[in-house]
Amino acid sequence: MRTKYIFVTGGVTSSLGKGIIASSLGKLLQSRGLSVTIQKLDPYINVDPDTLNPYEHGECYVTVDGAVTDLDLGHYERFLGEELTQANNVTTGRIYQSVINKERKGDFLGKTVQVIPHITDEIKHHVKILGNTKKYDVVITEIGGTVGDIESLPYIEAMRQLRWEMGTKNCLCIHLTYVPYIAAAHELKTKPTQHSVKFLLQSGVQPDILVLRTEHTLSDNVKKKVALFCNVDKDAVVECIDAPTIYEVPLLMHEEGLDNIVLQKLGISDADEPDLDQWKDFLSKYKNPTTNVNIAVVGKYVELPDAYKSILESFIHAGAANECKVKVSLIQAEHVNHENAKEKLDGFDGILVPGGFGDRGIEGKIEAVRFARENDIPFFGICLGMQCAVIEFARNVLGYSDAHSTEFAPTTTHKVVDLMESQKHITGMGGTMRLGAYPCQIKNNTLAFQIYGREIIQERHRHRYEFNNDFLKEFEENGMLASGLNPDSNLVEIVEIPSKKFFIAVQFHPELQSSVLKPHPLFKAFIKAANDFKK
Ligand code: GLN
Repeated sequence: MRTKYIFVTGGVTSSLGKGIIASSLGKLLQSRGLSVTIQKLDPYINVDPDTLNPYEHGECYVTVDGAVTDLDLGHYERFLGEELTQANNVTTGRIYQSVINKERKGDFLGKTVQVIPHITDEIKHHVKILGNTKKYDVVITEIGGTVGDIESLPYIEAMRQLRWEMGTKNCLCIHLTYVPYIAAAHELKTKPTQHSVKFLLQSGVQPDILVLRTEHTLSDNVKKKVALFCNVDKDAVVECIDAPTIYEVPLLMHEEGLDNIVLQKLGISDADEPDLDQWKDFLSKYKNPTTNVNIAVVGKYVELPDAYKSILESFIHAGAANECKVKVSLIQAEHVNHENAKEKLDGFDGILVPGGFGDRGIEGKIEAVRFARENDIPFFGICLGMQCAVIEFARNVLGYSDAHSTEFAPTTTHKVVDLMESQKHITGMGGTMRLGAYPCQIKNNTLAFQIYGREIIQERHRHRYEFNNDFLKEFEENGMLASGLNPDSNLVEIVEIPSKKFFIAVQFHPELQSSVLKPHPLFKAFIKAANDFKK
C-alpha cells in the first residue's frame, strides 16, 4: 500500500487538543493493523524549542536521537508506544535554516529564493521524508497554531499542494474546531467553525473531516448545519466532547466513527477491527483505583503544569499500573525553605524534584530533598533533581556547607556537580546539551537493579552538568551510592541511598519513556513505595 497522509489543522482557537486528536487517530489506526507515525510542524522561528523557557510552550520533549521537540511528540509516543525522531518535528526555523544553507551553497544559483516554491517545497520534503522510509501506511501531520495565523500560511499552502499532487484519496485534511455554548441563549454556535473552514477554503483547502470540540453533545441538526455550510459529508462531522481523561479520546473517537470515516476516505478497505483491549484495561485500572497517594513535585515552573507534562502523564501510567490514584501537588520551590519545609511537605507520601535550569528555587529544592531524606519519605530526583540530591548530601551529610553545582556557584570550593568535560568548550546555546539516549550500566544488588531488573538500560538526557566523580568515593563511603554509570564515560547516571526505604535520583529523564501500555519502572516503583510508606 502506498503511504497515505493525513493533515490535522486547528481553527477558532488554540489549545483545542490537536495533538490529542492526532494521537487518538494514530492509536485507532494502529489498533486496526496499520503502521502509523505522527509528525508536528511548528510555525515558530526557533530551530527547535531547546532555548525556550518552559513557560512559553510547556516542557521540551527529547527523542532518542537527541532532538529537542514540542511536547506533542510526548503525546504521540505515549499513545503509539513508538519511538519518534527529529524527522517527526519540524519548525519554521529549521525549514528556513535548511533553505538558507542551500542558497549559500549555490543550490538555487541565479534564482530568487521565495516562500513559494522554496519554503513550501522544503515543508513538503519534510512531510514526505517519513513516508519515503516506506515504514508507514499512514503519516499524520499536525500543523501547529490556528488557521488564519500569518505564520502558518506556508504550511497550509504546502498541504494544499500535496493534496493536489497526491489526490485527496491519499492526502486528507482533518480540521479541528470549537463549537462554543452560549449559556444566555442556551445555544451551541457553529459560526466560528464556518468562518474557520471559510479561511481554509480561501487558501484552497476543502477539509475532508471536521472534528468539533464541544462541552455539550451536538444534536443531529447542529452536525447537519455544519456539514451543509462547510461543504463536508454529514458522517464526516465528528463530535469531540470533553473527556475526563485524554486517554479516553481514542475510544470516544471510535464511537464517533472517526477511524471508519478516515479509512473510507483513504480507500483502505482491508483494515482489521480495532484491538483496544489493553488500552481499555489500562483505562479501567485508571478509573477504578483501590488506593491513593499524595505526591509533591517541588519545581519552579509550577504555574504552568504543561512544563511537567511528561512527569504528570508518567504518574497516570504508573498509578494505573498500581491501581492507585496519584494526586500530584505542584509546589513552588521558591516558597520552600528550611523553616517551612515541614509545613509545606509534611503529609506527602512521596517527593519528586524534577529537572530545571537556573538558580531560581534551587535552595527550596535542596530543602525538599533534605526533608525527604531526613524523614525517610520516598524520594525521586530527576536531572536537576538528582543534582540537588547530591548537593544536599554533600552539605548535610558530608558537611561541606558550600557544596554546590557550578551552574549556580561557579567558584565554590566543593563543586560536587560540575560542567561536563564535553561541554566546557561549547558556546552555542541551541541543541548543544548532552541530548538523547545513552546507555547506563546498573550495579547488582541495588534499588535501581531491583527496579529495572537488568544491567544495561537506555535513557534520554538533556543536561550540561554532571556528578563530579572526584567526590564519588567519599559519597559512597558515607552512604550515597552511584548505582548506575555510563559504561563509556563513567558519568554517574543514578544515585541512591541504600539505608533509606526509597531514595533514588537519576541524571536522565525517565518520564520521556513512559507510555500508556508501558509505564516506566521507576515511576511504578516510586508509586508503590509511596503507597507502602502511606500504609
Ligand atoms: N540544569 C541542569 C544541567 O544542565 C539540569 C538540567 C535538567 O534538569 N534537564 O545539567
